[in-house]
Amino acid sequence: MTEISTIGVIGAGTMGNGIAQVCAAAGYPVVLQDLSEEALTLACQTMESSLARQIRKGTLTAAQAAETVARITTTTSLDPMADSDIVIEAIVERLEVKSTIIGKLDAICPATTVFASNTSSISLTQLAAASAHPGRVIGMHFFNPVPVMQLVEIIRALQTTDEVAEAVTALTVAIGKTPRVSKDSYGFIVNRLLAPQINEAINCVAEGLATPDDIDSMMKLGANHPMGPLALGDLIGLDVVLNIMETLYHGFDDPKYRPSPLLKQMVHAGYLGRKTGRGFREYPAA
Ligand code: NAD
Repeated sequence: MTEISTIGVIGAGTMGNGIAQVCAAAGYPVVLQDLSEEALTLACQTMESSLARQIRKGTLTAAQAAETVARITTTTSLDPMADSDIVIEAIVERLEVKSTIIGKLDAICPATTVFASNTSSISLTQLAAASAHPGRVIGMHFFNPVPVMQLVEIIRALQTTDEVAEAVTALTVAIGKTPRVSKDSYGFIVNRLLAPQINEAINCVAEGLATPDDIDSMMKLGANHPMGPLALGDLIGLDVVLNIMETLYHGFDDPKYRPSPLLKQMVHAGYLGRKTGRGFREYPAA
């Protein structure tokens, strides 16, 4: 059985800093890596405000928050990943960039290190093919915001070993999340269902059927969704939604997944949602 007691996280953005935080909060020493010191400083600030929010809500003590922060080390070098039992990658959603990292990690880490990717939609089987030890590669798909969302979708590549799948499932439970396993396919389960719904809501806006507010409130009142599809698209990031739709469209080679032309325009305009202050709504800086 693969024992996981040390964790490396690559990419300290929206997802990476959340993943580092929940792993450290569960007692694991974590090394968090990114390309620049600026990205790491921003990640530390984000983690500290998230922990401060939990203290205010009474779900964490100040001492536990301080212990969590103390378990996280940051670096711009990949070398410390050699000491991690699992490396969780949360970098840009591009096959060639993720494959390059896997190749570099192959050279640095022992053959027993597990490589997990937080990819939203890229084929794990293709990512595993980038490793000299493909059986160690698996998908560990967290949801945004990581400290809040309960599910981790575990995606088995065609090559993933049973031992690696069992170890990652056990780790997911140990960090307080709920694992659900899916076979590898474009978009897996959640995004295959969710992204087309957001895309179709954008088509409804483009056709002038109703306002974004009305479309969102219809899905809240009529389908009992806690958040409407356009508000959710703004939260996830419209660039991320477009990436997922393009993966589904090209992966399945099926026109039913065609990205909405308005979604493409929003991304070209830089209206990516909350992270740029404007998407289907405006988000003035706090
Ligand atoms: P992000 O842009 O917020 O963060 C990515 C980080 O990776 C940045 O800090 C960037 O500097 C760093 N990075 C890029 N290339 C790197 C490299 N070669 N080495 C080290 N660091 C590198 O992106 P994100 O939203 O956190 O998404 C990361 C991954 O998680 C993507 O695969 C995305 O599809 C997936 N994901 C995103 C969400 C979401 O809601 N945002 C949800 C689930 C999964």
